[in-house]
Amino acid sequence: MSRPLVVDSVAALRAQIRDWRRDGLSIAMVPTMGALHDGHISLVEIALEKADRCVVSIFVNPTQFAPSEDLDKYPRQLARDLKRLRQAGAQLALTPDVKQMYPAGFATKISVGGPAAGLESDFRPTFFDGVATVVAKLFLQVSPDFAVFGEKDYQQLCVVRQLCRDLDLPVEIIGAPTVRDAHGLAMSSRNAYLGDAELEVARQLNAILRRTAVALAAGTNEDSATAEASHALVKAGFDKVDYVAARESLTLAPWRRNRDGRLLAAAWLGKTRLIDNVEVLSV
Ligand code: AMP
Repeated sequence: MSRPLVVDSVAALRAQIRDWRRDGLSIAMVPTMGALHDGHISLVEIALEKADRCVVSIFVNPTQFAPSEDLDKYPRQLARDLKRLRQAGAQLALTPDVKQMYPAGFATKISVGGPAAGLESDFRPTFFDGVATVVAKLFLQVSPDFAVFGEKDYQQLCVVRQLCRDLDLPVEIIGAPTVRDAHGLAMSSRNAYLGDAELEVARQLNAILRRTAVALAAGTNEDSATAEASHALVKAGFDKVDYVAARESLTLAPWRRNRDGRLLAAAWLGKTRLIDNVEVLSV
């Protein structure tokens, strides 16, 4: 278990990547915003199964936060993150600062259509531009063979696949299952914001989605099933539901019964916004 090399400049990163390539090694990357938990570590494990070397980026990307969002209070704990990465066996941690990623005069934005439309974009209209731009930059810096993204952020996974397809980025995107606590709550760095009572409520989200997915698969009308799920979330103690929606798994177009689907939701608990999603099996 050796320490991951910690690199904060593109030049140093590229020198290391060049050495690995010269030795014929394959590279997988895991982009993160840090505050690493078991969900992130599962992506590192998948990356190391796929490739000889794993690069984990830790960068709280300001361009994917709206001015009203939690950029300043987003948890940052680099020393602890590096320890977890060492235990997981990642070889390199890329920890650029904001000036390195967005130097003065930076003026480019990548805007993905298709799966980026709707859902999160209805509530966070600049979010996926920020994600697509930073992911494209990271891919061009690291030039990985593979990149692992969590299904926890299901729409983001679809957007990244679209980005790679449209821009011919030669990176194979691997989707990884959501890691949950013993009560079904998807692990998230933002769960750290939740108090004990809120945690109890948060744990209802996945159960309600799973129940709704079963109802949809059994033939319940989509509008009534999703309305019932929103109602159940509020009854469980959520303060506001942004959306509960069924979509086609690959394109995120409206779901049709004979297609594999995904039921996605976002809801607020106090000042914390939680998202989750589950599979809807075709009938
Ligand atoms: P973040 O640090 O929140 O930007 O997440 C970095 C990566 O970890 C993204 O690909 C997320 O989808 C993934 N991720 C976050 N939470 C989980 C989880 N509970 N299970 C699996 N992957 C996750």
